[in-house]
Amino acid sequence: MKADAPAPFTADDYRARMEHAATTASDAGLAGLLVGPGPDLVWLTGYQPTAMTERLTLLRLAPGEDPVLVVPKLEAPDAEQAPGAGALTLRDWTDGQDPYGTTAPLLDKAGRYAISDSTWAMHLLGLQEQLPDSSYTAVTKALPMLRAVKDAAELERVAAAGAAADAAYEEIKKVTFAGRKETDVAADLADLLRRFGHEQVDFTVVGSGPNGANPHHEAGDRVIGHGDMVVLDFGGLMHGYGSDTTRTVHVGEPTDEERRVHDIVREAQQAGFEAVRPGVACQDIDRAARAHITDAGYGEYFIHRTGHGIGTTTHEPPYMIEGEEQPLVPGMCFSIEPGIYLPGRFGVRIEDIVTVTADGGQRLNGTDHAMAIVG
Ligand code: ZN
Ligand code: ZN
Ligand code: ZN
Repeated sequence: MKADAPAPFTADDYRARMEHAATTASDAGLAGLLVGPGPDLVWLTGYQPTAMTERLTLLRLAPGEDPVLVVPKLEAPDAEQAPGAGALTLRDWTDGQDPYGTTAPLLDKAGRYAISDSTWAMHLLGLQEQLPDSSYTAVTKALPMLRAVKDAAELERVAAAGAAADAAYEEIKKVTFAGRKETDVAADLADLLRRFGHEQVDFTVVGSGPNGANPHHEAGDRVIGHGDMVVLDFGGLMHGYGSDTTRTVHVGEPTDEERRVHDIVREAQQAGFEAVRPGVACQDIDRAARAHITDAGYGEYFIHRTGHGIGTTTHEPPYMIEGEEQPLVPGMCFSIEPGIYLPGRFGVRIEDIVTVTADGGQRLNGTDHAMAIVG
């Protein structure tokens, strides 16, 4: 059932990403980019240290200079096996040495660097102590679009993850909801995501009845009952790229009000989707979806942004939110996920991942938006 794995990324792919990153940093007036273990390091080098430890691992990118990965000596053999290792130089340090002393000569003494969000504070403090005239800014602040535009090989992976999540949805509709706990259905969803090829499950939200009105609810001990609306929001990573989709189902026949609210959310999702095209600001996707819900009288019950980017993580820039003026660019992938949350009663959310094409948008989730009736 698992789809064939796509061709792995090569050292050349990682070299191109690192060059792009160094150039982007330079264009932003920075001396370079410092990247600790986490999604940016995986994207740039394919390297994910097996254990997150207090020992410093740090990639240094600077325009016109070869990439250098500072690694603890005992982890160097692993780093040498990383798919991007051929595109960088390793600089190891041994226990007992000061890793910041090893790193400092690689940096411009008074340079300003973008540093990845997931780099531990203790490492940044160590560098600052060595280089008191250097300064730092967060990658997501200085270079928020670094990973936002996906190339063809990345798009293939995001699409495959979306198709696998869709397959999981088609199966979950067939399971019994009434009389089972939310956590039971959530476990089914996790099993299905793995069965259809995900190597990592990030979340399996099952929000039944009043729990569906809390967008942060994951899944709990509540026993799902007849008449419940159930928000199902699930995703994870497949071949290193994310899925994230939401459908709202109903146990048995819905009321007229439940149908109406579901219709409004479905139309809002469609309005957001139809607004997608290159050059449109991210905030306009939010505005298009929100206007529909507001016009229908439920504006105060749509209590979160309309969407977020997706790639090597399931939540990343760009964000579809009021105030985000970043224009859409072909290759960006993000969610459109409006919702209506009626406190103490029920919630409805519908979410697809969408990618920007040359002249519009393309959904990477294809399951029916209509309210499925489950048993
Ligand atoms: Zn109901
Ligand atoms: Zn979601
Ligand atoms: Zn989402």
